[in-house]
Amino acid sequence: MVRINEKEEKVIIEPISEEAVEVVTVSADVEKWTPKTELGKKVKSREITDIDSVLESCKPILEPEIVDILLPGVESDLLMIGQSKGKFGGGSRRVFRQTQKKTREGNKPKFATYAVIGNKDGYVGLGFGKAKETVPAREKAIRNAKLNIIKVVRGCGSWQCGCKNPHSIPFAVTGKCSSVTVELKPAPKGTGLKAEKEVAKVLRLAGIKDVWTKVKGQSRNKINVIVALEKALLKLNTMKLQEKYLDSLGVSGIKKQS
Ligand SMILES: [Zn+2]
Repeated sequence: MVRINEKEEKVIIEPISEEAVEVVTVSADVEKWTPKTELGKKVKSREITDIDSVLESCKPILEPEIVDILLPGVESDLLMIGQSKGKFGGGSRRVFRQTQKKTREGNKPKFATYAVIGNKDGYVGLGFGKAKETVPAREKAIRNAKLNIIKVVRGCGSWQCGCKNPHSIPFAVTGKCSSVTVELKPAPKGTGLKAEKEVAKVLRLAGIKDVWTKVKGQSRNKINVIVALEKALLKLNTMKLQEKYLDSLGVSGIKKQS
């Protein structure tokens, strides 16, 4: 066995190039795309033109181009889940989480990142990507985010507002992942996103403008914060609302059955 002496262990990974960190705008070569799934063929031939019908049918979206066609103008962003190597344990937040595996040949680094996509109008997706280099990790994350797209039900559930516009959320929700709990509460117009930076990025792309949030637990683990937030947003979908409240809460995205 090769023994690594202490000096070798302090090898610092090269800093990530700035190009990789830049936010990419979503663009797709839709014309060149040849669909492989049944759902993809229907979307390409314009048989399905509404993403709601795809999400309601509970069929898995297996091709990211489906989202590109049905939701034109989605924006993407990367979340800060890692941190750069700093002295004395401190380092600034970074988009890529770097991990290393010790082998006989040396250290093998890997890069992981979390992407969020959204159209700022009620649809948001979160995806995790991990690869040996930064660029493929980002591509994987954006791809996964498109496949995991969810609908966010919005409304105005604030007692201080009552404007019946979908600028906030209709009721308070909580989500939990490991020790992290994320609470979202409806807020009146003009409040803004009272949330930490990464949570606010997701909420902005989801199209929520005013909300109060609270994060409890080990919130320095950003992955758990993001997963807890996703679970909270899913609860907005799954809660059963009586029809008489749909108007007073200004709920958008739920069809009335009448
Ligand atoms: Zn309002």
